[in-house]
Amino acid sequence: MFDKVKPKIVISKCIEFENCRYNGQIISSDVIKELIPYVEFIQVCPEVEIGLGIPRDPIRIVFKENKKLLFQSSTEKDVTKQMKIFSKTFLDQQKNIDGFILKSRSPSCGLKEVKIYPGEKQVPPIGRSAGFFGEEVLKNFSHLAMEDEGRLKNPTIREHFLRKIYTYARFRLIRKSQSLSDLINFHTKHKFLFMAYNQQRLKILGQIVANNDKDSINNIIKKYEINLHLSFKKSPRCTSNINVLMHSFGYFKDKISKKEKTYFLETLKQYRNGQLSLASVISIINMWIVRFEEQYLKQQQFFSPYPKKLIHAENIDSCFSKDYWRGK
Ligand code: SF4
Repeated sequence: MFDKVKPKIVISKCIEFENCRYNGQIISSDVIKELIPYVEFIQVCPEVEIGLGIPRDPIRIVFKENKKLLFQSSTEKDVTKQMKIFSKTFLDQQKNIDGFILKSRSPSCGLKEVKIYPGEKQVPPIGRSAGFFGEEVLKNFSHLAMEDEGRLKNPTIREHFLRKIYTYARFRLIRKSQSLSDLINFHTKHKFLFMAYNQQRLKILGQIVANNDKDSINNIIKKYEINLHLSFKKSPRCTSNINVLMHSFGYFKDKISKKEKTYFLETLKQYRNGQLSLASVISIINMWIVRFEEQYLKQQQFFSPYPKKLIHAENIDSCFSKDYWRGK
């Protein structure tokens, strides 16, 4: 049921798709290039959509008379109203999406760190906020996955983002089928993944699926979806991933040799020390799943949360590093 699922992601068109930046350029991104065959991208360039051409004079956020405005200094054009109307209309139409990848620091698309100026002239910024389109995204879709293209270069942020969008995309199929048995199947396959994210929330999701209150399927799916989004609110701590890996190791510890046990525990230690990726440890468990035909673990999305081609065992996760948490 879930094999060929493709997440639907709204993306700033200037990232890898079209030369639509103010200066007629495009942002090249290896991360996006790699995702193109596996993700359904919905491209949008809000500035072009409101009629600013390519190339165009840059616009900026200006704080004036206690209000934030989107302003093109060279033409003295205030495009705030057009941008607000476009953003609302476009985003109201996006009913079945799983997330966003937006251009960082753009006065339109930026999700944060966009400079706010005190006037139209060349003066230093006085603050930072989201861009106008980005702000509307944050207002209406904070439960979905969203990142800027720069942050996705970090392997741990990328891992969290991919796990999230693929899980949400798989859940869309449940929303469509409105079937309790499909929901139970979904829940069973994601137990280890949810365990890594939030054990308490996993319990709540289990209670919803058990449906002791004999609720309607429509209500069950709605409640489940809210709690699913809450489960993914924060990236899992590395120690939580380690707990799941140790729990999985328990399935094999009586079947493998002493040398294999030592090798696994050493690899886990290297992951803990930030010397190896999570994917490297998972690959050992995956090998044992095949060797011992461990059917329950085989179906767990924790071990294959997104297409194999997107897994980079050589990229070391950095969730123990201060830099990663600073970027949150
Ligand atoms: S950042 Fe957004 S508005 Fe600016 S060029 Fe890219 S897509 Fe268009």
